Amino acid sequence: MRIMVQKFGGTSLATPEAREHVVRHIRRELAAGYRLVVVVSAMGRKGDPYATDTLLDWAAVNGGLLPARERDLLMVCGEIISATTLCGLLEQESISSVVLTGAQAGFRTDEQFGNARILDVVPARVLDELDTKDVVIVTGFQGQSLNGDFTTLGRGGSDTSATALGAALHAEIVDIYTDVNGILTADPRIVEDAKPLSYVSYAEICNMAHQGAKVIHPRAVEIAMQSSVPVRVRSTFSDNVGTLVANPEGFKDVQTGIVDRFVTGIAYVSNVTQITVHSAGKGHQLQLEVFKAMAENSISVDFINVTPAGVVYTVFDSDSIKAAAVLDELGFEPQILNGCAKVSVIGGGINGVPGIMARIVEALSEHNIQILQSADSNTTIWVLVNKEDMVQALRALHNKFELHR
Ligand code: ADP
Ligand code: MG
Repeated sequence: MRIMVQKFGGTSLATPEAREHVVRHIRRELAAGYRLVVVVSAMGRKGDPYATDTLLDWAAVNGGLLPARERDLLMVCGEIISATTLCGLLEQESISSVVLTGAQAGFRTDEQFGNARILDVVPARVLDELDTKDVVIVTGFQGQSLNGDFTTLGRGGSDTSATALGAALHAEIVDIYTDVNGILTADPRIVEDAKPLSYVSYAEICNMAHQGAKVIHPRAVEIAMQSSVPVRVRSTFSDNVGTLVANPEGFKDVQTGIVDRFVTGIAYVSNVTQITVHSAGKGHQLQLEVFKAMAENSISVDFINVTPAGVVYTVFDSDSIKAAAVLDELGFEPQILNGCAKVSVIGGGINGVPGIMARIVEALSEHNIQILQSADSNTTIWVLVNKEDMVQALRALHNKFELHR
């Protein structure tokens, strides 16, 4: 049995026209001989009636102090509405389908409501239903805890549902349909001449996603990578096949084979705060105290530079008041710089190529953009800039590395 998993994101299901495209992709793949498992997100974006963010806003305004467990019970409604809507549309086209909740599709999770981890996927019911139905529609973003409560998987959770199902079902491919033509060299909302990539390795996109490229969730890529299930990221609004994500050996099946580039793309995380704590002679003790205190207060830290003079790191803007208070309590006098953005230049080939950092500095200084902090690894160079400079920094770097070519 050739199984294909298709995942449709919020904007892909938001309007009647978009849903027509969804039905078209389903019809085409059925005709090609696939058994289809279709994972859906909630319809639309913040403000649309049944979108995830709309439900969250609803609860915040009208739901009093809704406990996390009950908030998840509310959240799963978004995907149920979109799944049942699609079922009705398929029925009208004489395509038989059945809707399964995350629980019915076999997603078992821990009990971290709002951000549950998948423990395993036992898709027996999905396989059963595939025997008699053309399409099995699965509500994305959700599972069930071991004692039967509904749980949700956090941001980007439907991507994770799709690749986890693809892995569990030994699917031939997982197609992630969205509102852009695949994975691009940068977010096209910011860098207008960003170019779609035909192929990326799991490692490259995992890295880009971790650095903020929201086109696919990094957990989804990690799960796909573990089972080597190929993933395509493609547009709902065209028939273009988009970007193939696979192990580099997987690219050999496709015409060109070799992908030789040193920079793959550019990503960003906005809304971070830089915190500098001077050591004042405290040395190791300071490092230990600072990072222990952050951990104990569940403040996630990033972009850490440790020197004898002290420590510099970043937290999300939303954690900055709490972080400052914690440091204050410990008797430190931290310097707090809100409103920064982390810009990352990503590429498997960065390692050992001379002059890359020089080109980054050149690109940014040509636009008088101050680098607040920088770091590098085998595959990534990070720079921290003021948020007002972020858009220009992304465009300048994209140009400097000629990623539009
Ligand atoms: P969906 O609802 O389909 O999951 P998302 O909004 O989560 O859609 O992801 C698609 C969006 O990701 C695009 O509209 C685009 O703005 C953004 N994006 C960020 N970085 C990239 C990138 N490198 N390539 C493509 N899209 C990107
Ligand atoms: Mg998404």
